[in-house]
Amino acid sequence: MQQDAFDIAIVGGGLVGASLAAALRATRYRVLLVEAFAPDSAAQPSFDERTTALGNASRRVFENLGVWQGLLPQVAPITRIHVSDAGRFGMAQLDAAALNLAALGYVVPNRAIGLALWQSLSGAPNLTCAMPARLDTVTLQDDVAVLSIVDAQGRREARARLVVAADGVQSKVRAAARIGMQTHDYGQHAIVAGLCTDQGNDGTAFERFTHAGPMALLPLAVPGATGWRTLVWAARPDDARRLMALAPAAFISTWQQAFGWRAGRALQLASRNLYPLALSRADASHAARVVLIGNAAQAQHPVAGQGFNLGLRDAAELAERLQAHDGDPGDPAFLAGFSAARAADRHGVVEFTDTLVRTFSDERPAVGALRDAGLLLFDLLPPAKQLLSRVSLGFGGRSPRLTRGAWST
Ligand SMILES: Cc1cc2nc3c(=O)[nH]c(=O)nc-3n(C[C@H](O)[C@H](O)[C@H](O)COP(=O)(O)OP(=O)(O)OC[C@H]3O[C@@H](n4cnc5c(N)ncnc54)[C@H](O)[C@@H]3O)c2cc1C
Repeated sequence: MQQDAFDIAIVGGGLVGASLAAALRATRYRVLLVEAFAPDSAAQPSFDERTTALGNASRRVFENLGVWQGLLPQVAPITRIHVSDAGRFGMAQLDAAALNLAALGYVVPNRAIGLALWQSLSGAPNLTCAMPARLDTVTLQDDVAVLSIVDAQGRREARARLVVAADGVQSKVRAAARIGMQTHDYGQHAIVAGLCTDQGNDGTAFERFTHAGPMALLPLAVPGATGWRTLVWAARPDDARRLMALAPAAFISTWQQAFGWRAGRALQLASRNLYPLALSRADASHAARVVLIGNAAQAQHPVAGQGFNLGLRDAAELAERLQAHDGDPGDPAFLAGFSAARAADRHGVVEFTDTLVRTFSDERPAVGALRDAGLLLFDLLPPAKQLLSRVSLGFGGRSPRLTRGAWST
């Protein structure tokens, strides 16, 4: 590290922390970014084998940050969403064209997003990257935060007026700020796998609710190949472990039985990974010298593909406010303003996702009938569809400038 005094220290250079760093590039703030893993490391937990479904607001953020163009070869647009409930008649379809949108969302490999973001950071004159380096402790004082960082050379100290916790659900920064976290375990694990079928992608994303948990099949752009999709299959932990242990052919045939033939016959399976699923919500979003963004503030079930989209809006709002702010970035009134601005969107998205998971895992017949009615109404009523398309743009309040028009630093 060349300096030890910064305006802002971002702890965690995963999807959300790296996005914030990119948005603060070329601002007047001296920024330190601390990340435990190199972006191209197989162990990087944020840029792993998963794919992320980005909403239109997130696409605009990446366009404004100048990383979207480079991602395009690996971007699969979602032009239609097909929702069905296993064993029941309810189904619904959402079409981008009917909503006058080019796409409802875009599926991009996490690794591609991570590499593009980190590439965009190289050479930024106001940015110091400590990577690979781990935040060990952080001491929060009234006027400054003192970070103790460990890397291959040993231990170093850095001071910052604001520490941004972008270090994920097990955030050390949040713990140091004594902010509690409420967690609800859904009793589900998600299997994420690549699946190739004999039917080419037409941009349809399938969402299927089964007794054991929801399943999503998303289009995937693999340069030089067709028919690849990402499967996100949430199941009870024991069932998920059993599915993980199956030989590829047995896994494929079990999946085909549960999903049906809408996407054709599955031919090939790529890597499978397992993720325990829980809803986690921090009790507060800021404290003295600290602000929480992304999974450090809230982590949710991936059924609606909202976790990163929401975290990116945290980063966009914080960057916009910091740019307009004149003075101490750790000023309590400034941090309170940020938390208030993000409250409605965070609450809306978390409640929406949680209700979806609970409603579709309820096996009581009356709830099943309500689901059928809901899906039918959803298919028949344009306002219901437009409400859902709001999810792609964020809930409540104004949206950050990075998600809308032009952005300049
Ligand atoms: C199966 C699955 C599918 C998903 N699909 C979608 C989707 O389609 N759309 C969507 O919007 N969201 C999706 N999500 C949610 C999304 O992945 C998360 O919301 C997102 O990863 C949060 O990013 P983050 O940067 O806040 O946290 P993380 O991804 O957890 O990154 C935290 C970073 O902090 C670093 N770090 C942690 N501790 C330290 C330390 N002490 N020192 C230094 N560095 C540290 C880590 O190395 C990591 O890089 C999905 C989640 C799952 C589990």
